[in-house]
Amino acid sequence: MQEPVEIHVLDRISKYIQTRALDMKRKYLVWLSVIGLMNFSDIFLHKGHAEVAPSSSNTHFELDISLLHQTEILVTAIINPSSTYHDDGLILNRGATNLTVKANDTDLKYDFLIEGEPPNPFIVRGRPLRFKWPKCGKRLCRLTISYAIPRTEIDYGSQWGSEQTEALETGLYAAWIPVIEGDADTGKFTFDARLSLPHGWNMSGNGKLEQWGDTIHFRRMSPGIDFTFLAGEKLSVVATEKGTTNVEIAHFEDRKSDAERIVPIASGALDFLTEHLGSLSGVSDQALKFILSDRRSGPSYSRGNYWVLTRADEPGALANLVAHETAHFWWNHAPTSTWEDWRNEGFATFYAWLILDDMGFRTLEESVSIARKRSAEVPHIFGLPRNHPRAHNVLYDSAGILLHGLYNRMGKVDFLKFSRDILNQKPAKTTQLLEILSNYPGQNQLWLAKCLGIPVQAEILSPC
Ligand SMILES: [Zn+2]
Repeated sequence: MQEPVEIHVLDRISKYIQTRALDMKRKYLVWLSVIGLMNFSDIFLHKGHAEVAPSSSNTHFELDISLLHQTEILVTAIINPSSTYHDDGLILNRGATNLTVKANDTDLKYDFLIEGEPPNPFIVRGRPLRFKWPKCGKRLCRLTISYAIPRTEIDYGSQWGSEQTEALETGLYAAWIPVIEGDADTGKFTFDARLSLPHGWNMSGNGKLEQWGDTIHFRRMSPGIDFTFLAGEKLSVVATEKGTTNVEIAHFEDRKSDAERIVPIASGALDFLTEHLGSLSGVSDQALKFILSDRRSGPSYSRGNYWVLTRADEPGALANLVAHETAHFWWNHAPTSTWEDWRNEGFATFYAWLILDDMGFRTLEESVSIARKRSAEVPHIFGLPRNHPRAHNVLYDSAGILLHGLYNRMGKVDFLKFSRDILNQKPAKTTQLLEILSNYPGQNQLWLAKCLGIPVQAEILSPC
């Protein structure tokens, strides 16, 4: 059966940032989103407004989103640019129609270049929306962009053949809200969204629900780099508690058993990781939120205290998915756009295996055996192009196997200590990680370097 593909948003964005930095001499891609409201056909929605004054250091989005039409979603995005915003234009899904762009209240001329190539290779359906961002006095104007967009363009479920039709899961890379290119400092945004959903629908997403009613008020006042949600008629949003931590799970009826399994796994994973790697600020004191997608393919991902998990049917696969994503709360500091990503994915993979073993889902040896089968005859980790067709098997499976070897060589106590050293020191490169390792007995830095495929002048006697 198909193993859910796990992709990280940050991977993709930072890869894109690098590409752009090289090719376009631009520093960064910035994701911004936003919306306001829309007076479209005969539907009039509430005008979006921010109750918290936008910070000049953060781009803030006011979003009005209507899912009241069956076939399309209506969006108005009001963008309050940060003080550091650069005029690089926007990317928007090519299916957007009835597009208007206003600077304050004045219509703005724009070019929406739906023919041609996407400006961002990851946002396949995204196309440039070009205009000159005007100034209003000394400040940049707030921009209002209104449009309608076919649900089939932006819904993971409809794209990937989900049987769940009365639901919508916004695609991560669908550019269903404007993506803005700009300066790194504006890369994170806050949002204040009003959603009009069909009667009886529920929703969950990476923000905080503050008000139910005909219009849902959903916002995030801590800066983040995206806005995704899942909404549907048969979506259950269940609040529970784990100790003093609030836990929220959004799931469809037939994933009820998954929902019941996930909290103990995530709790166990958090406990295990906290015990062995130290506590993580910002997680334990927040609500944990799980979105159980109806999909069998496409990305699972985690952000802060927020997990989106595809279906996983294999025994242990769901537990592995939860444990892996939870481990990324710790393991996320290495560059993601090169082979160095082995440190994010390898450690997340190996720590997930430790968790599965600890919780009785799979022994360490079983996990290693599964990974060995998948990664037979793959290239070395060192220097692997991040877009190599076998990158997943190399940077996840092979790297996990290598760390398992290192764990056996060092012993559990030293391996855990070494892990904590990495988390404390956050080495920028693998060579720096190897230096940290050289502080431990056993010459393991030479073994690891050799096994990674790094050319080193050393004989190693034991196999990788
Ligand atoms: Zn991962």
